[in-house]
Order: sequence, then C-alpha cells, then structure tokens
Amino acid sequence: MFEDLLAEIRQKQHFGDQFIPLHAPVFHGKEKQYLLDTIDSTFVSSVGEYVNRMEKMLQEITGAKKAVLCVNGTSALEMCLRLAGTKPGDIVLTQSLSFVATANAIAHIGATPAFADIERSTLGLSPHAVQAFFESFCIKKGHGTFLKESGQKISACVPMHSFGLSCRMNELQEICKEWNVPIVEDAAEALGSSYKGQHCGTMGLLGALSFNGNKTVTTGGGGAILTNDEKIGDLAKHLTTTAKLPHRWEYFHDYAGWNFRMPNVNAALGCAQLEQLPQILNIKRKRAEIYDHIFMNSPWEFVTELPDTLSNYWLCAVLTQNKTERDNFLAASNDAKLMTRPAWAPLHTLPMYTDTPKGSLDITVDIANRLVNLPSGVEGGIS
Ligand SMILES: *Cc1c(COP(=O)(O)O)cnc(C)c1O
Repeated sequence: MFEDLLAEIRQKQHFGDQFIPLHAPVFHGKEKQYLLDTIDSTFVSSVGEYVNRMEKMLQEITGAKKAVLCVNGTSALEMCLRLAGTKPGDIVLTQSLSFVATANAIAHIGATPAFADIERSTLGLSPHAVQAFFESFCIKKGHGTFLKESGQKISACVPMHSFGLSCRMNELQEICKEWNVPIVEDAAEALGSSYKGQHCGTMGLLGALSFNGNKTVTTGGGGAILTNDEKIGDLAKHLTTTAKLPHRWEYFHDYAGWNFRMPNVNAALGCAQLEQLPQILNIKRKRAEIYDHIFMNSPWEFVTELPDTLSNYWLCAVLTQNKTERDNFLAASNDAKLMTRPAWAPLHTLPMYTDTPKGSLDITVDIANRLVNLPSGVEGGIS
C-alpha cells in the first residue's frame, strides 16, 4: 500500500534512499566556531556575549521590542503566563490540539487549562470557539472574566500556532479584548511565521518561542519570551535570572526569582543557527510546495498557510480521509524509512487534563484522527 506515493515523495523531495527523519537539526554555519569561542573564553554559562547577541537577533527577526532567552520553551511560556497575571487557581483558555508543554506550563503555575476547539483552516485556536466558550461558560465582572460555575478567573488565552501556521489573530484579539483576557501566544513552533506582516509571538501581550532540537532552529534546548512592552520585558529578564539587583559584588535578590536563563554555550549555537534562518525557511517552503503539488489531485488535503499569513512549515501536515487510512499510511511510510507521525493525542484525553473545562472539541478530535506530519527537515538535497 502507498508504494507509488512514497516513491514519489522520495523522488520529488530528493530524499535519496536513506532513512529520512521527521525533522533533524542541520549545522552548516558558524556553529563550531562560536561553540569553540565559548570554551576558549570559558564563558559557557550565565555570563557571556552570545546571550545578548541572540536576544538582539531575535528582536530584529521578530520585530519584538524585547526578547528574553530561557532554558526551554516550556519555561518561557510559564514565565509569559506569570507576567500576564496568571495565578494559582486561575483558568487559562487554550487549544487541546497541542504539544503537552502548552498545558504543562499552565499547570505548573497551579492554574487549570480549559480547552476550546481549533479551526480546520489554521489548526489553531478557533475565534468562534473562544467566543462560544466565553458566552456559554463565563461572566464578566469588574475588569475580568470568570467561570460561571466555579468563579475562577480566566487569566489568559493561549493560541498555539500549530506546525508554524498562524492562528487568526485579529479575530482572537478582538474577542479577548472584549472579554478583558490577555493573549499569550505559544509560538514555540512558529519562528519565521507571520500574520499580516507581524511575526507570530508578537501580537499578544507576550509570546514564547522554543529552540528545542526538533524545532526550526535549535540551541540544543532553549526558548525565548517575546513582548512589545519594555517594562514587562525588563521584568522577564529580572525574574528569569534569579531577580538579582545589579552590583559589583553583592548578592541581593528582591523576589523569589527563577533560574530560567539560557547558558551562553547554547546561545552561541543559536546565533549561528539564526544566521541561517532565511535559507532554512526557503528550503522548508520549497518542501511544502512540493508536497502541495504531490497531494493536489489526491483525496488527501495538504495543509497550507492562509492568505495574509506566512508559515515556516516547521512540520508539513497532510489530512487523510479517516483514521484507518492514517494508520495504514503511518505504518507504510515508517516501514519505508520515511519518518511520519500522527498529531499529538489531544490534551483533554491525557489523564491529568481530562477533568478540565472544555467546549465542543469535535474538530480537534477529527483532525487528530486524520493528520500525518511528513518529513520536513532541511537535509535531503533541495536548495
Ligand atoms: C516545542 C513546544 C513547546 C516548548 O517545548 P520545549 O521543549 O520546552 O522547548 C511548547 N509548546 C509547543 C506547542 C511546542 O511544540
């Protein structure tokens, strides 16, 4: 089954006959030079210039006023939520189709994730579903929005830009503004993606990026907080670096801060990677165009960016017709050494998140049953 399709993918994507991973990092730039530099200088840890340099590069790439590097995307998202005002006992509205880290960042604060459905066109949080959630389950009181049943505050709304496809941000911004709920974007998968010219992660109050090994560019492990509010950005830096007051020798801290800072050695890798971002994005876009062409006359639907948006095509995705077909294709492709993967199990089906508030999740469940991620890395010959 699927022999012709798999052969066509191999040939048109120039995959050769070797094993093709879903997404592997590539180091074709100055990675070794910068890493050696941190070792030669001994500045591998919490002091060093690469952290500042990478933060500046991210500000330029994303247009965010402030970028603050963190140890990983999960810690960046957790800090974004804390800075947006999320407290233990609150509710944070997000999507169930996401990597578990989205819900974990909420839970680690002592808050509870609530789930609204995604849209078929973006695979991200649906403005209609968010509106329906607010109207069905919430009341406005003073300057906030609260769950009718428990009185818990909805302290943030977290759209996630699935596989690099931007959510419909204007609509989400309008609804969340009306209900006084700040937006924190989980842009972990969306470095290089934009909506109407604005980089993903810069349209909410705060946004989080990830530089894990499987993401578009990597620092080994890492993440970043983005914001256009300089005061919040300064506070993010302060709180993620143990809240120490600057002094030549004294150790004085004015808050129970976090050690979420990215080590200089990781930032060195990140600087070299970011220098190659335009080329990486070009190759990924070409790959997506090839897949789009392959699936054009088939019953399967290759997922493409909306007009007015740019996807980084972090992981290319195709929708099969049903779960059986999906499972057959997953088996055939992995047997043929083309690595493919289903979507994550929807978060509301995981044991720790089953008992949470949720709206209808029909589209989430349908998409999770039919979606397959295709090999989307840079390696493999097209350039
Ligand atoms: C990768 C990812 C994160 C953060 O992951 P880290 O491994 O902690 O960097 C968060 N949310 C989503 C949706 C992700 O894909």
